[in-house]
Amino acid sequence: MTRPLAAQFLPHNQLQRLLDTLHHSGHKVYGPQLRDDAITYAPLATTDQLPLGIEDHHAPGSYRLQQNGTQHWFDWLSTPQGIKPLLFKPRETLWHATRDATGAIHFTDPASSAEKIAVIGLRACDLAALKLQDQHFLSVEHTPDPFYTERRRHLFIVAINCTRAAATCFCTSTGDGPKCDVNNSAADIAMTELDSGFIIMAGSAQGTHIIEQLALNDADEAQLNEATQREANAIQQQRSVPSQNMRDTLFAALDHPQWDDVASRCLSCGNCTAVCPSCFCYSEQAEPQLDGSSTEQTREWDSCFTQGHSYMHGITVRHDTKLRYRQWLTHKFAGWHDQYGRSGCTGCGRCISWCPAGIDIIDELTLLSTDKGVADDA
Ligand code: SF4
Ligand code: SF4
Repeated sequence: MTRPLAAQFLPHNQLQRLLDTLHHSGHKVYGPQLRDDAITYAPLATTDQLPLGIEDHHAPGSYRLQQNGTQHWFDWLSTPQGIKPLLFKPRETLWHATRDATGAIHFTDPASSAEKIAVIGLRACDLAALKLQDQHFLSVEHTPDPFYTERRRHLFIVAINCTRAAATCFCTSTGDGPKCDVNNSAADIAMTELDSGFIIMAGSAQGTHIIEQLALNDADEAQLNEATQREANAIQQQRSVPSQNMRDTLFAALDHPQWDDVASRCLSCGNCTAVCPSCFCYSEQAEPQLDGSSTEQTREWDSCFTQGHSYMHGITVRHDTKLRYRQWLTHKFAGWHDQYGRSGCTGCGRCISWCPAGIDIIDELTLLSTDKGVADDA
């Protein structure tokens, strides 16, 4: 058995070597970059493209970037969509069918688009959400999704430990962060950024192989202490879920008056589900040619907030915003316990920042946990 690598030190000016090593091992590397006043993942060739000295500030319905005067590349906390669009594409073709001259129909699978991808920048909440998406898409109880499975197999992850917390973060209370558990997560490598470089650790044999090629020195005690101190800044968070298991509370609160209150503010826009790293709903469409010569079956992200998502046999089951919001929250925080053994929320706070109405799920969960209205159900 290979001995696990000790924590090592990667100087800032050698991060490019890590990127080059990933490129040389056949990966297309994605990393955080400034686009349209947000930090998003995009193909990354050099460290010059990274967001230097930029931190993100979050509040209900608000996301702002600010220079902080440091030489850090990873002082931001969350990208609007994490890596969900890289694994579970917003829109893709599932199959084609064509009719030949004899009238026979031929089905074809789209060519596999999976390439080796390495992503640098994921946080502990993102890794936990990835585990949830794996549980869903790779499940053997359901048929594993071949598109997701192929992309997931080719994914290499360089995770970053958070060294600050946004006002919307609550991963401490969901038990998913803020530090990446390098031995028990999808991270191949996990790093903590210091003033002069990174503490770098391997989380998989592949990660070990990449780090070994860098021929680094072990981190010294001062560097490890600096990392511990910086990581501690992320633990104190302003928000927390009332309980890690709200299943019984929410199922007992289906007639709570708070659902009417939140429905009066919610726009049913679906932003919360689009940015949520664990949401996985989609819809399928057939797109036939008018002459009947071929058709294409596509799928695209859907949301429990759309009218069509609950359309069955001529009826939209969840016909108003109250029912849709209740579906989103009770599925995420109650139904998931029955389906996946835990809640579907990893405390990233994205749905709070990107809700145009500034709806804060922590406030909603807290109000729904009070017994106002629940007694009527007893
Ligand atoms: S429900 Fe909100 S806070 Fe929880 S994982 Fe989804 S986007 Fe993040
Ligand atoms: S909670 Fe906010 S983001 Fe979600 S559907 Fe309602 S208005 Fe849109």
